[in-house]
Amino acid sequence: MMFAEVIVDIAHSDVDRIYDYACGEDVVRGMRVVVPFGKGVTTGFVMRVKERTELDPARIRKILRYEEELPPLTAESLFLAEKISARYRVPMALTLRLFLPSEMRTGKVSKRYETVYLPCEGRTEEEIPPRAVKQRALFRHLTEVGEEESARLREEYGSAVKALSDAGFLRAEKRRVFRDPYRGASAESTPKKLTPSQQNAVDTVKNTDKTVTLLHGVTGSGKTEVYLSLIADTLKADKTAIFLVPEISLTPQMLSQLRARFGSAVAILHSGLSAGERYDEWLRLREGEAKIAVGARSAVFAPVERVGLLVIDEEHDGSYSSETAPRYETFGIALMRARYNGCKLVLGSATPSVETYRRAVMGEFELVKLPERINARPMPEVKLVDMRREVRRGNASPFSELLSERLGECLKKGNQAILFLNRRGYAKTVICRDCGYVAKCTQCDVALTYHSDEGALKCHYCGSNYRMPPACPACGGRHLGYEGVGTQRIVLDLKKRFPAARILRMDVDTTSGKEGHYRILKQFASHEADILVGTQMVAKGHDFPSVTLVGILDADMSLHFADYRSGERTFQLVTQVAGRSGRAQEPGEVVLQTYDPENAILRSAAAYDYEGFYAREISMREAMLFPPFAKIVRVMVTGEEEGAAVEVLRGVYTALKELYDAHPEEFLFFNRMHSPIKRIRGKYRYQVLMRLLGGGMLKEIYRIASEVRERDVLVYVEEDPANLS
Ligand code: ADP
Ligand code: ZN
Repeated sequence: MMFAEVIVDIAHSDVDRIYDYACGEDVVRGMRVVVPFGKGVTTGFVMRVKERTELDPARIRKILRYEEELPPLTAESLFLAEKISARYRVPMALTLRLFLPSEMRTGKVSKRYETVYLPCEGRTEEEIPPRAVKQRALFRHLTEVGEEESARLREEYGSAVKALSDAGFLRAEKRRVFRDPYRGASAESTPKKLTPSQQNAVDTVKNTDKTVTLLHGVTGSGKTEVYLSLIADTLKADKTAIFLVPEISLTPQMLSQLRARFGSAVAILHSGLSAGERYDEWLRLREGEAKIAVGARSAVFAPVERVGLLVIDEEHDGSYSSETAPRYETFGIALMRARYNGCKLVLGSATPSVETYRRAVMGEFELVKLPERINARPMPEVKLVDMRREVRRGNASPFSELLSERLGECLKKGNQAILFLNRRGYAKTVICRDCGYVAKCTQCDVALTYHSDEGALKCHYCGSNYRMPPACPACGGRHLGYEGVGTQRIVLDLKKRFPAARILRMDVDTTSGKEGHYRILKQFASHEADILVGTQMVAKGHDFPSVTLVGILDADMSLHFADYRSGERTFQLVTQVAGRSGRAQEPGEVVLQTYDPENAILRSAAAYDYEGFYAREISMREAMLFPPFAKIVRVMVTGEEEGAAVEVLRGVYTALKELYDAHPEEFLFFNRMHSPIKRIRGKYRYQVLMRLLGGGMLKEIYRIASEVRERDVLVYVEEDPANLS
């Protein structure tokens, strides 16, 4: 008799512990099992198998069965899950689920089988009556190809299939099939000859003694080819690879390029697939059939073994932090996997996050650059347009004169243009359209956010309240605005100006649904439209060769976003959107509209001066004690019932306050307030916001947050949250 340590698949801290069960020799660790639990049965996961148990043998219960022969959880998955659970204080069941396709747990899809027919040995075509022409043809066909799927045969040979099989000429067999989402995808597949810079990047990654390499390459410098070359070498060494990209970059072009290069060795995990497809792709990885896991954030949990390389493309992208429990950082998990496997981790970006770049210049990461575009194509020229002057000249439209003119020329030449609008939904910043003044917190130097419910301006970092000024405090002007123009308005305006132009719009409204943005990107890529108008989504790494003009309509909106990272975000956005222009033969151009043309961040973005941007930004962060020189931690309390939420908040606050009083030297700032948006989707939200000097208090903060046992009130910790709404 053996014993298994089982975690039951119930995400609740009350049952978040090991339960011992008796089992047979055939049960191994990592299996998904069905066990009796309380009065019923439940699914569980085998963490370990052992020969002895402390439990009274008379009371021990038995594992009823296991679900799969091949344990869905690898040794590495179990190892990582335990670490993640401890780090973020979440139940093991919740963490283990990260490693499994949700389709497996819900049981909605199953392995798929198909019937194939084969010719029976020893039978010949001559034995079939000559007038049964179809049957003869079918038999001949099958002896040539070996076997074929029954559905396809029936389509072509109809009743001959059954007749021939009844007569003993054919036999049926069942075959496992994988749903292939990219069947028939094709693209150029030949590896390109690497440029000297690319080759140097590849060599650096391979030869460095550091685990992490930051590949800092300008837009269009050919980073993808570097990754592909490294992946190819990894496969040659008989290892596996994980290739992470932002969800939006999983375009059909990119996927078919990967498929063409690596064939069925690639498995793609992304939300655009059907449940069945996703399950099959996961299974192909688990079974070792596929060796390259490509996907968005969650693919970092891919069930591959013997990992030889991890890549995080566009590492600065916000989509790499999880917004549901556990709130993990993709980089952190990738690093754990790199260490576990003793392999390399590559971070790529044209605009690395300030935190990452600092770790590279400090020597913790290797740093390698691709300073030029492929074939020495020039970076598109960026022209700054002063929108204050446009307003003064009576142009109240969202388009400057220069942009309208260039757009006209672009369309006349039959090229394509992208118009980028900086809109993130809720946050509203007060800006003077006459002088470019922005309302900021006097304590924190970040932009204030307008709250229409209270008619007040608030600082999201310290909670200070300000009154909405009746006129601009700087110039006395009356054009204070806090609403930007939406994409819809832009499209209407464009249609009036350029009635013949075909326009596509891409924002959260048009991209809902499974294939939303793929469809739009595909249409634009095949030149079914001349202008693409969109928000953040158009900024990511797309490669559209005919785009020669990019217009950034309101660069300021993110510059004054109420966030210490707003400068960094703006630099990234401008660089990324600009990078869509002029990627092929014709040189590109960028028109950047702003109310603040002297702004240092916009100027360095326009000059493609990342180092200049970084130097300024990092000294500002140091002076203001923002990350990476401090850690911003927010404990959120949310619940549908305000009274219950407040009750919990009180308890959490008291415990945190005790911690603060005992270690004031660890805290730069400690405060309780409503979260800036008091209700989201019917849930009241409260927060305790803290700024810590180091990570010393984190463990305690997580512990306090995890000890709340109130039903229907959720408490969670966020580290350096991407937004403070
Ligand atoms: P990035 O990801 O750095 O923005 P891409 O990987 O999209 O750049 O590459 C930009 C373009 O250059 C692509 O069209 C790609 O096919 C092409 N390219 C990349 N490497 C080479 C090379 N060694 N020789 C020729 N063309 C290349
Ligand atoms: Zn403030």
